[in-house]
Amino acid sequence: MGFNSGLGMERSYYVATANPFAPAPQLRGEVEADVVVIGGGFTGLHAALNAAERGLSVVLVEAGRIGWGASGRNGGQVIPGWRKGAADLVKLYGAERARLLFDLSLRARDMVLAHAQLHDIRCDLALNGHLLVAAKPGDVAWMREEVETLERVMKYPHARVLDAEETYAKLNSPLFYGALLDAYGGHFHPLNYALGLAEAARGKYRVQIFEQSRAVSIDTSSGVSVRTEAGVVRAKYGVLACDALLEGLEPRIAGRIMPVANYLVATAPLTDPAALIADNLAVSDTRFVVDYFRLSADGRLIFGGGERYTPEPPRDIAEFVRPFMLKVFPQLADTPIEYAWGGLVSITMSRLPHIGRMGDLFFAHGYSGQGTLLPAIAGAAISEAIEGDSGLLDVLSGLAPPEFPGGASLRAPLHVLGMLWYALRDRL
Ligand SMILES: Cc1cc2nc3c(=O)[nH]c(=O)nc-3n(C[C@H](O)[C@H](O)[C@H](O)COP(=O)(O)OP(=O)(O)OC[C@H]3O[C@@H](n4cnc5c(N)ncnc54)[C@H](O)[C@@H]3O)c2cc1C
Repeated sequence: MGFNSGLGMERSYYVATANPFAPAPQLRGEVEADVVVIGGGFTGLHAALNAAERGLSVVLVEAGRIGWGASGRNGGQVIPGWRKGAADLVKLYGAERARLLFDLSLRARDMVLAHAQLHDIRCDLALNGHLLVAAKPGDVAWMREEVETLERVMKYPHARVLDAEETYAKLNSPLFYGALLDAYGGHFHPLNYALGLAEAARGKYRVQIFEQSRAVSIDTSSGVSVRTEAGVVRAKYGVLACDALLEGLEPRIAGRIMPVANYLVATAPLTDPAALIADNLAVSDTRFVVDYFRLSADGRLIFGGGERYTPEPPRDIAEFVRPFMLKVFPQLADTPIEYAWGGLVSITMSRLPHIGRMGDLFFAHGYSGQGTLLPAIAGAAISEAIEGDSGLLDVLSGLAPPEFPGGASLRAPLHVLGMLWYALRDRL
């Protein structure tokens, strides 16, 4: 398989600590269902579960293994809201619609918590808060405005601004000028959450899951037929849930998203993890290329980030990430890194996801780095629309990001230029 190569999933902390999941068979021959879902990450799994909960028969085909896309590789940070802040949403859409969107992100959070509880998913869920730390002095003023908008417009009283001293008490790093603490944020083990969803889907809800079954073509002339290398699924509806790995499968929408690689490490267990990050918070910073970090359940630091402007993965991911980690936590200079891996984030021009339908084929992708919760609401919107109620899907489709300038061929070089510009701005 070409995609995802060199990104070291097999050397990830998540795979090393994954709950047992018996491999699903490969699709061979022909099967029929009401809904065929392509992709076994959070989006596909939520869509499949939601549709099956409504009594529809569902087949899910996954090119590789369940959760081996972004869903099982990410930072595990669980952050309410969208990749665009509350004040930005108000500027873009006005107060009423912005509030509706923010509420939907909270509904997504509720859904994820409900699934974890209902299906008894062991995924190290820790909801002690998310700390957005200010990398530049000016970020603190923006954070005060953001908290004010959250309170006034979103009626959300769970965020507050910390000054530099309070921030330092939470995070033992010399770098930051203040922080926005959102008490509803947190973190989890994303691969185990995905595997738990899949287990519930195929156990309780009889979703037929096929792994190592890459969709190679889609025919929408009558219903939705999806052909894999060794079989075909004939269904009334289809769901494209391939995110950054969509590639050429559906050229009509591929130009709205761009895959960007991002890398993570997990250190050896720390002797005093709470001395590094207090209250087991999830943390990310305000830089354009975000650094994000948190503790694992067994007391390691999981650190993601670092700027890289070439599509090829670094030869040694641990050595690539280490200097970025040491900049934040110089005290870890002698702490070994035990796991290192990467993944493809799919970003959009607006940093808001691209969710919608083309006839009977639905799609949701491009969460732009904020996709541990939002796929739950996308999955619900799609299954409601399949049942004839497209209200929620219409709201989400309204976010549609523009195409990248230059389409699929120029988007990567132009993006690199953009990243360089913003990274430079972060330094000045
Ligand atoms: C390194 C990294 C760090 C991140 N950190 C965070 C974070 O801390 N917090 C947060 O909220 N978000 C984070 N994200 C974003 C989040 O992980 C994603 O938005 C989310 O997982 C997307 O889920 P998905 O199901 O849409 O896509 P994926 O999980 O990528 O799933 C797509 C699936 O489709 C399969 N597929 C692709 N093509 C085909 C085909 N032709 N046939 C069959 N199957 C196919 C793939 O194999 C894959 O399993 C991060 C992402 C990355 C990569």
